[in-house]
Amino acid sequence: MKIGIDLGTTNSAVAYINEHGTAEIVSNGEGERTTPSVILMDGDKAIVGDIAKEASVTQVDDTIQFVKRQMGNDSFQIPLPGSDKMIDAVEASAIILKKLVQDAEQELSEKVTEVVITVPAYFDDGKRNATIEAAEMIGLNVLKIINEPTSAALAYYDMEEDPSDQNVAIYDLGGGTFDASIVNIHNNEITVLSTDGDSNLGGFDFDNEICEHVINEFEDSTGIDLYDDDDAMQELRENAEKCKKALSRLSKYKVPVTSSGESMRVEITKDLFNDLIKGIVDRTKLVMEDAIKEANLTWEDIDKVLLVGGSTRVPLISETIKDFTGIEPSKELNPDEVVALGAAVQASLIDGDTSLSSSANIIVKDVNSHSLGIITQDKSGIDGNSIILHRNTEIPCSFSQEFYTNHDNQERIQLQITEGEDLDPDYVTIIGKSILNLPPGLPESSPLDITISYDKNGIVHVVARDVTNNTELRDMIIERKSNMTQIEMEEKKEELLAIEVE
Ligand code: AMP
Repeated sequence: MKIGIDLGTTNSAVAYINEHGTAEIVSNGEGERTTPSVILMDGDKAIVGDIAKEASVTQVDDTIQFVKRQMGNDSFQIPLPGSDKMIDAVEASAIILKKLVQDAEQELSEKVTEVVITVPAYFDDGKRNATIEAAEMIGLNVLKIINEPTSAALAYYDMEEDPSDQNVAIYDLGGGTFDASIVNIHNNEITVLSTDGDSNLGGFDFDNEICEHVINEFEDSTGIDLYDDDDAMQELRENAEKCKKALSRLSKYKVPVTSSGESMRVEITKDLFNDLIKGIVDRTKLVMEDAIKEANLTWEDIDKVLLVGGSTRVPLISETIKDFTGIEPSKELNPDEVVALGAAVQASLIDGDTSLSSSANIIVKDVNSHSLGIITQDKSGIDGNSIILHRNTEIPCSFSQEFYTNHDNQERIQLQITEGEDLDPDYVTIIGKSILNLPPGLPESSPLDITISYDKNGIVHVVARDVTNNTELRDMIIERKSNMTQIEMEEKKEELLAIEVE
């Protein structure tokens, strides 16, 4: 059984292709269609989902949440509650995946071994690798990593009666990430023309704005700093989210807050909320403007703006989009479920699977969200970033360049691979060093053909050819900071097996 998984910052969802050939959400063990991506440790047992989310208010120290924001951050380590072990974002994600897969297996009465997992389009190589590692850690085979907005486009195509010949803009604002993609649908081809985003921008930031406002009001009136009270802060975070959701329908909401014996209700009106989040919403507008420019289109060329992600329920989002695009955004997709549904469709497209009724021949063409470069030195020895694969190039894609050995019998060649748009190495991410051992006896200036590529998952690979001997040198391994050895992977797998997940 193959499933599609939307592994979200705040909520996750799972879908599969049912016996009628249509994508369908798989309910979790509690009968819910989405599962909060929150872990509660109860002794050796990890409880994931609604109960964990509720417990996050009263048992702050026993819960782990928002780990997706830390994917690819190698210095992020959190204590596994109730033990002296530390875990990273990859292991925490593996625990969440284990719950999702276990529940799906129970619901579908079949073993799940193959998955398509969605990631924000703006996720870089490190975050994509971390996502694959999390799945492999619990023994899953990742068929493909697909970008969330692309997945939404795929589900949209699958649901539409006559989806042909249109340009759609996808505005995907979730709990922690924002993506904008411009997509052309022509016959059976879904082509992503451009994508842009911010992997640290989402509903979480709206909650933070409310929290900060309440903290200031409370301090002004009582002199108490809520930052000193962990329990009150966690409660406030929870109430801020409630307030935000309420303001999607109501004109005002009072946020209760209690600390050190003082209580208060801080009123937030819809206008105030809009003021608080305006700066964040404007950032999404800039990203959208950038995406349309990169696609070489104008808003007049766009037939539909599709809203994806729970945070698009905030009314200011639709109002802002309408203002700058002139288009009333479409609410026809279920913002919480569409990404998982698209992932299930994608899973069924792999290996010519015929379980899908409507769209067996869909071709999906995606792009890379970050330019790829290498660090080079100019004649005066100053490092610069040379971009060799520009962002928004169709993936998979590759680029070859000849390099030359510097001296006789050179033993190795080292490349620093970058992701980012700047020519200054300080403003791009060095994703890793790629070191290649050379065959003995090469004279100075021997040519080496180096090919750097993005694969279908948006992950970077480097291969090399010794032109002198006309031999392929084995794949250059990118020494990513997070690279796990096989032994480390096995150890982590074992550790995770020991954690009972519910
Ligand atoms: P997602 O990652 O797509 O599940 O989006 C989750 C985010 O959507 C969280 O930050 C939620 O607080 C937010 N969200 C869900 N429902 C609403 C709503 N009715 N109004 C505003 N934000 C919402």
